[in-house]
Amino acid sequence: MIDRTHTKQRGRILVSGASIAGPTVAYWLDRFGFDVTVIEQAGAVRGGGYPIDVRGPAVEVAKRMGILSGLRSAHIDAKRITFLLSNGSVAGTIRPEEITGGVESHDIELPRGDLTELLYGLTRNSSVRYVFNESITSVDDDGKGVTATFRSGASERYDVVIGTDGLHSNTRRLLFGPEEPFSNYLGYCYNGFTMPNFLALSHESLTYTTPGRYAVLSAVRNSPVLHAFLIFASEEIPFSRHQDPVSQRRLVAERFEGIGWEVPRLVTAMEQADDLYFDVVSQIHLERWSKGRVVLVGDSAFAPSFLSGQGSSLAIVGAYILAGELAAWDNPAQAFAAYEKLMRPYALANQNLAADGGDFLLPLTQKAIDVRNRALSNLGSSRTKEMPGETSRGVHCSLRLPEYSGALENR
Ligand SMILES: Cc1cc2nc3c(=O)[nH]c(=O)nc-3n(C[C@H](O)[C@H](O)[C@H](O)COP(=O)(O)OP(=O)(O)OC[C@H]3O[C@@H](n4cnc5c(N)ncnc54)[C@H](O)[C@@H]3O)c2cc1C
Repeated sequence: MIDRTHTKQRGRILVSGASIAGPTVAYWLDRFGFDVTVIEQAGAVRGGGYPIDVRGPAVEVAKRMGILSGLRSAHIDAKRITFLLSNGSVAGTIRPEEITGGVESHDIELPRGDLTELLYGLTRNSSVRYVFNESITSVDDDGKGVTATFRSGASERYDVVIGTDGLHSNTRRLLFGPEEPFSNYLGYCYNGFTMPNFLALSHESLTYTTPGRYAVLSAVRNSPVLHAFLIFASEEIPFSRHQDPVSQRRLVAERFEGIGWEVPRLVTAMEQADDLYFDVVSQIHLERWSKGRVVLVGDSAFAPSFLSGQGSSLAIVGAYILAGELAAWDNPAQAFAAYEKLMRPYALANQNLAADGGDFLLPLTQKAIDVRNRALSNLGSSRTKEMPGETSRGVHCSLRLPEYSGALENR
């Protein structure tokens, strides 16, 4: 499966997952002189997708990778997020650029697929090898290296294996066992899908809130397609009883029955969508991000949930630091310890943002909705101090990005 003739001096590294953390860590490892293979269970890097944010030190990483102008060109320039009352009237509007300072102040919002394409494009023509439709079935770490066996039946030996395979990481399961003990369920499930832009929305999102049930529509620029989300609060994780898509569709339709505004239209679109994605809103908290020569980065190690808005930035920053530390130390154990020491406080601080994000975006009771809406209606008169997101910004930028130029010179 793998061409050994390209093996470089620094060692062979296997990366599992080609989305955001995977191509980022691969790019830096390649630059530092490692021999890198990335496997991805899907047939290709997934394009399209909902808008995500790249902020603070993640923008600096993108700059050091030479893709900042590409990121800025892909910025979706969202003009407003409108919050609707249960009768469909407007409770308030947020203008993202007034909170973040916009693209010029290191806060870029772009479709997830544009980011993965940029990252993949950077590494596709380097000596990084990509293998699609592949997954690890076992890892055998003998202290001197790791033998990975693949779904295809092949097996290969590596110096280090890196799991970048997301919230429900396969590598994490192989390393530490089933997900449950490490998953912090935040009390919501969501359904994401696309549908025609029937409201002719442009550069904006609409959020419709009722206690425990929320509908979000997001228009990337003037796209004829909307990204729709039906989110509901649920004390219990419904996966055990609703594993198949038919059952998941039925559950969501039941939960949104009788809800007003355009929700019935969204439910119909959800029932017909061929790109439906159902998942829980949860975080990953692990005591350690590595074991032996296998290490995790991105959502697999420290998923913060979309309520923090920081998953992509953490994935990029974590991948950069992990690669840098692997280049800076001879021993993977020392590199992993240094990576965790730098990254863990930053990841935790950003994970903690999800609580405020939940209170603001997905308030659970009518009283909490009223409090949120009052804050929104006050925004017009005090647009500086009380802006939601103001305090988060300090957290987004609370890491000083290390330099690894020494490791580049020594390669
Ligand atoms: C609805 C929603 C909205 C979001 N909004 C935002 C936002 O506004 N801002 C933000 O910063 N973040 C947001 N996020 C979070 C963000 O998408 C993730 O945090 C980010 O994608 C994590 O990147 P990652 O590379 O660690 O993992 P992922 O992007 O999850 O990628 C994991 C990759 O591993 C692959 N994979 C899975 N299993 C295997 C296997 N067995 N073998 C090989 N490959 C495998 C997958 O196919 C995928 O390509 C949002 C997420 C969701 C779901």
